[in-house]
Amino acid sequence: MAAANGRNIPKEDVIFGISRRAREMAEDVGEDKVINATIGALLDDEGELLVLSSVDDTFMGLEPVEYAQYAPIGGTPEFRKAAIRAALRNYEPKGQVRAVATPGGTGSLRNTIANYSCPGDQILTTDWHWSPYKTIAAEQGRSIATFRLFDENHGFNAEDFRKRVGEMLEKQDRLIIILNTPAQNPTGYSLTDSDWQKVIGILSSQEPEKRIALLVDTAYIDFAGDEDEYRSFLPYLEELPANVLPILAFSMSKTFTLYGLRCGAMICLAPNEEIADEFVRVCEFSSRASWSNSPRVGQSIIANIFADKDLLDRVTKERKEIRDMLLKRGRAFEEEAARAGLPILPYDGGFFASIPCDDPASASRELEAEGIFLVPLAMGLRVSLASVSEEKCRRIPAKVVEVLNKR
Ligand code: PLP
Repeated sequence: MAAANGRNIPKEDVIFGISRRAREMAEDVGEDKVINATIGALLDDEGELLVLSSVDDTFMGLEPVEYAQYAPIGGTPEFRKAAIRAALRNYEPKGQVRAVATPGGTGSLRNTIANYSCPGDQILTTDWHWSPYKTIAAEQGRSIATFRLFDENHGFNAEDFRKRVGEMLEKQDRLIIILNTPAQNPTGYSLTDSDWQKVIGILSSQEPEKRIALLVDTAYIDFAGDEDEYRSFLPYLEELPANVLPILAFSMSKTFTLYGLRCGAMICLAPNEEIADEFVRVCEFSSRASWSNSPRVGQSIIANIFADKDLLDRVTKERKEIRDMLLKRGRAFEEEAARAGLPILPYDGGFFASIPCDDPASASRELEAEGIFLVPLAMGLRVSLASVSEEKCRRIPAKVVEVLNKR
């Protein structure tokens, strides 16, 4: 009955399918014999979801009116302010900052594509990327083009970025560029300040009639390392000329462990009021046309946290504890990969690391037979460090080498 409308809709989501098989195997042979490194949420060593107790306490203390009532389309005023603080922390922008509430970072991606590209356009992102970018673009009649994230020395490939931006702007008058940093999904890479300077230089040298939206997907920004240090790229965004609009897709899913509450915000750092006000107007229009208003509950939680300094300190301290645990898993994985001679992509932080390999789909099936469940991507395998213990992170590399060497 359904119309395909140019989309390629699979029978089962790849990740959920693998996760289901991992659960079935664990029931058969026992949890300790199965490593399910597919899940995109931070779990404790026993596989239980980690929820910040300070956030949970705030949730439990809400009055019904704080979650049952509709929120304004663009979010409550208190939430909008709090979202800007959460995203920018101590950085005081020079330009015009505006926030529009969205259901998670996903909503920010969706609204950016709806308003800063045209049907038929291509959106530029890195070759290693979160696969829903493609889905979100396809749903709206756009498609994804890529540039190579890494050069041969495993550094940021500014030259390929320059080339692809140039090529695409020859064909299109508008271009959305999605960069997921810091702590990218799936590689864990973070653009360095020097990478950022190159990006800004390249975008600043494009023709001023071209309209560029630079969408920085910061879904993992608070799981990369020191929260202020990892915001050092923000001032660079404000060096961009007026034809390039920086937008942050800020997700509360990981930062506040509110995955299921669908809370996030899109935040622009606009050069003037006209562009900033237009941003709010068009994004609210798109929200109205898709999910109407975003859930109020997460907005109330975040607003209450930012209204109480002690509570905010508690949240920040608790988050540091779970981040330190995650980064320890990452270092353990890197160490064992080096010991086993397994090439991995440069991991800096965040939930995932990636192993480049040939024919990832069959590699992942062969690993499944050994009780190791990883997500096959176009050019390799994604390991969720977030969902397995440090001990299991240590076990993965040698096993992957063993399976890949058998082929
Ligand atoms: N961007 C990336 C790279 C992600 O991995 C995710 C979630 O997994 C998101 C954005 C959006 O998350 P949410 O919509 O839950 O905020």
